[in-house]
Amino acid sequence: MVFKAPPMTCYCEKCGWKQTIIPTSDVLMFLPSCPKCEHAPLAHRTATASEVMAAKLKGLLGR
Ligand SMILES: [Zn+2]
Repeated sequence: MVFKAPPMTCYCEKCGWKQTIIPTSDVLMFLPSCPKCEHAPLAHRTATASEVMAAKLKGLLGR
């Protein structure tokens, strides 16, 4: 049985950087710290519908 994790948005409370992660495979990539200002740990919450949409578009364009 496979449980699908909900899309998550990781964000930096310091500089406002954020990334939406859609779990499409078994591998979930969580960054340990902010790639922009190296603030750690990153905060995360369930992604909003518009963030999920943006992340999907980005994924399509990135391939
Ligand atoms: Zn940051």
